[in-house]
Amino acid sequence: RAKDSGRGQMCLYEPLMDEKIERSRTLAADMQGALERGEFHLMFQPIYDLAGERILSCEALLRWTSRNHGAISPAEFIPIAEDNGLIVAIGSWVIREACRVASDWPAEVKIAVNLSPIQLRSANLPTVIMGALASSGFAADRLELEVTESVLLEDIEASLAALDAINRLHVRTTLDDFGTGYSSLSYLTKFPFQTLKIDRSFITDLEQSHASVAIVQTVIDLAAKLGMRTVAEGVETQAQLDQLRRTRCDAVQGYLLARPMPANMVGAMFAGGAAGSEARAHGRA
Ligand code: C2E
Ligand code: MG
Ligand code: MG
Ligand code: MG
Repeated sequence: RAKDSGRGQMCLYEPLMDEKIERSRTLAADMQGALERGEFHLMFQPIYDLAGERILSCEALLRWTSRNHGAISPAEFIPIAEDNGLIVAIGSWVIREACRVASDWPAEVKIAVNLSPIQLRSANLPTVIMGALASSGFAADRLELEVTESVLLEDIEASLAALDAINRLHVRTTLDDFGTGYSSLSYLTKFPFQTLKIDRSFITDLEQSHASVAIVQTVIDLAAKLGMRTVAEGVETQAQLDQLRRTRCDAVQGYLLARPMPANMVGAMFAGGAAGSEARAHGRA
């Protein structure tokens, strides 16, 4: 009997695994040449001051529309691109494209770009960044690179060196998804981040959980003492925003304020006028 049920589980399990592996393989093959075919584009999500009045920055979020598979989430295709190494070329394109688009924006608005751990460790990252800044004429101190904490602990020395190299270019760094990894608060003192982004899971819990309020407050206070700015990501409700105003983080990002939008819509928003109000309304829809 035990043997039978064991075999039964295997039968249920294996086809699913096979399907997953098969899809990853197909996507990996399909991804070859996707850059050249122009299948990637960026969406931009505004990050606001706490009053929700001023856009401080926009986060560039990568989208892939595959000729064979349609729209694929970055949560699915980025791990594949990391496995097959394409992430370096794709990630370099993201940095260049983000700087190009943002160079049309008002000078006080920054651009935030996500970095894969593989990019962070690649020796030519500083060259890629300098190239993107030079070709767009974009100011280094308007570029913010976001990395997640899980990356840093795999190789602390290498991570520190890479972050220092970025900061030497006067490019800012943000610790993304803070609170989801395994790092302790003491790591915050080790790494030279200018900004700390509190993960959406804490923001979601703000309404139900006093513990989350306490954690978020502690993180914001500590970050301030260490000279770091704080951004709350994934703000979806007015109650969450009200709570964040009490805990006084520096900036907020989330569907309540604006959804990720195409470059032309962000441009229209900054240009103001009728097209701008329409873009704003869309962002909040
Ligand atoms: P992330 O950097 O933490 O980006 C925030 C994600 O949360 C984005 O998902 C965004 O659309 C979503 N989001 C924003 N506000 C809200 C909200 O109020 N509620 C909810 N439920 N979600 C919200 P997206 O665009 O699907 O990206 C997912 C992840 O993929 C990103 O997480 C980032 O880790 C990665 N990613 C995206 N673009 C790039 C890229 O160019 N390079 C690399 N290496 N990773 C990227
Ligand atoms: Mg991010
Ligand atoms: Mg994040
Ligand atoms: Mg996230």
